[in-house]
Amino acid sequence: MRQFRHSLGAALCACALAWASPAAVGEGAANEPDDVALLQAMLLAVKTPSGRPYIQFRIDGELGAGTKAALAAFQRDRKIAENPLRPDGPTWKALRAALPEEYVGMRVLPGSKIVYFEATAAEAAKSIYQIESYGEFEPSFQRQIVAMVQRMFEEHRIVLWITYTGWRRPFGDQMGFARRNSQAGPGESTHHYGRACDLGFRNFRWMDTTGAIREDTDWLDRMSRALGPASWRLWKARDAIAFSLGLYKIAWEAVHLQALEDERISNARSLVKLLEKTGKMKWETKHVNRKAHYWSDLGRGGPMYPVGTAHEIWAGKAPVPAGAGDIEGIRKALREEFEKAEQNWRLWEPVEAN
Ligand SMILES: [Zn+2]
Repeated sequence: MRQFRHSLGAALCACALAWASPAAVGEGAANEPDDVALLQAMLLAVKTPSGRPYIQFRIDGELGAGTKAALAAFQRDRKIAENPLRPDGPTWKALRAALPEEYVGMRVLPGSKIVYFEATAAEAAKSIYQIESYGEFEPSFQRQIVAMVQRMFEEHRIVLWITYTGWRRPFGDQMGFARRNSQAGPGESTHHYGRACDLGFRNFRWMDTTGAIREDTDWLDRMSRALGPASWRLWKARDAIAFSLGLYKIAWEAVHLQALEDERISNARSLVKLLEKTGKMKWETKHVNRKAHYWSDLGRGGPMYPVGTAHEIWAGKAPVPAGAGDIEGIRKALREEFEKAEQNWRLWEPVEAN
């Protein structure tokens, strides 16, 4: 923990200079939508002497007549003559200084119109501490996630958190997930082996286009309802850092990050290797209709019997052929082999796909 505090302290010093400073805005300037969106957000939050917001319309990132008029009114009220606005010139400074308390720390995600509020270093420290003190991530993956959270805070002042689905996952939990998203069954997800996490945006505070402050979930549900695909910019900002740290994602689950590239490893063959390391049976696997099926010698050293999918084995419903003997006893033994593998999940090693 002490070591972490030190590293985050250093990060804070480095990024104090990189405060989200807008570019020039105004006539003749190359007006980027992110700078204009931030200007509009400030003019929505700051009140005129008669107590009304300077702009009465939605944030759209365009320097139209309404925004220009609102800006002129603000400058008139503050006796500032400046056009275009210079980065950290008198207008930006006056706007910042006039922000009501709940809007302090307002900034915009570069390249987007997403206006949000900085998280605190204490929150970043808490998220990192949760990850660092967790004993069930593979150590080098754990360091990558810590670096991920740290970099996201340094670059964007956003704190990412492991979601309730995002820690090491018991085999049984995969029963519920599998049909909805991935095809992975019990034992077939890298979540079981401390090499995947779900890293989301819990407590993320942002400003909607009407100027209201919203607080979001890990999955950014509120923002994706309000802004649609525009909210993907935030995931992209997270992923740009993730990729630079050598992490991977999967197509169907934005919140998910993992240590290994899905195309390069076979989850089923990795499970087979683990089963053979920890149990008494011989195993084989093959894909049937894009789903991994398994064969086992049932510990007899003889022929291989088809025993179905990981879901079926875990559920105690392996489709064991009638000729194999005591079906219920065999189903129980198969499930026990999976349980033994789970108890020894730290022995899991990735096996490459063909
Ligand atoms: Zn996941």
